[in-house]
Amino acid sequence: MDLSSITVFANGDFRRYEDAKVGLLTHGLQYGTGCFEGIRGYWEADDQELYLVLLRDHYERLKLSAKILTMELPYTVDELIAITVDLAQRNNFRTDIYMRPCIFKSAEDIGVRLHGVPDYFAIIPVPFTSYLDTSKGLNVCVSSWRRADDTSAPPRAKITGLYVNSALAKSEAIGNGYDEAILLSHDGHVSEGSAENVFLVRNGALYTPDPSQNVLEGCTRRAIMQIAQEQFEIPIVERSIDRGELYTADEAFFTGTAAGIAYIRSVDKRLVGDGAMGPISRKLSEFYQRAVRNKEADYATWLTSTYRNRQKAAV
Ligand code: PMP
Repeated sequence: MDLSSITVFANGDFRRYEDAKVGLLTHGLQYGTGCFEGIRGYWEADDQELYLVLLRDHYERLKLSAKILTMELPYTVDELIAITVDLAQRNNFRTDIYMRPCIFKSAEDIGVRLHGVPDYFAIIPVPFTSYLDTSKGLNVCVSSWRRADDTSAPPRAKITGLYVNSALAKSEAIGNGYDEAILLSHDGHVSEGSAENVFLVRNGALYTPDPSQNVLEGCTRRAIMQIAQEQFEIPIVERSIDRGELYTADEAFFTGTAAGIAYIRSVDKRLVGDGAMGPISRKLSEFYQRAVRNKEADYATWLTSTYRNRQKAAV
């Protein structure tokens, strides 16, 4: 990825990516003591507009992640939204993008801790099109790695160091010929994918692990549940889910900011339904894709326009 022409927001200033380096001993790098967000922006050529999706939800979650790590974001959510719009404008993107806000412990010394170490806040935007190939179904395995447990480090926070858990599961899955992994929690219930929430469809109802199953409470998860309820009156059940239920679902899909909705073709070599994208997955996915590109007026509040707000966004 060519980052040389990108402008980032780093410790209070807009700078070129290459001028915003951190040192080798930085705590956030050595100990994983940081947290972050992933935000999508969709370029809609018809409108000549870049729509930033669910900014408020992402920054509210970042605040909670930071709180768990006893860090404090140096801006209010409204200020963060304004900075993000300003940053997108400065980069003048004319493509789909991904934004990575992060806050991490920035001291360069030895000694793992959270207390008494200054924080560093940055937002890094990158041009970004697709993450998982959502056009074809994913062949998924149940990982031999268990999801990190809240009693060790809380997965409800998007903590940098916790992504070792995701990386182990993802690379194991790819190494074994699958596209993605589903992790079980320590008590053996379905938790989530390496960077996605998981949903099943059975007899017309939607099932997803409840927030006590060591999941990150996804912004896309919430958005899909809202669409399912408001647009299609699909019953939603949040409860613990057994591994066997993955094998007997009519449909299954992942949700995530990077991936959107990605349907699951098989789990542990057992086809989900007939292996094709099911009707409920399809209508939720199509509606979500329209909503994030400002084609569904009722959901326009999910979006922040980049260029239409040009005058307002100066920070
Ligand atoms: N779980 C994990 C572990 C993730 O990294 C992500 C991606 N942020 C998700 C779920 C999906 O969350 P969201 O819909 O907010 O992107």
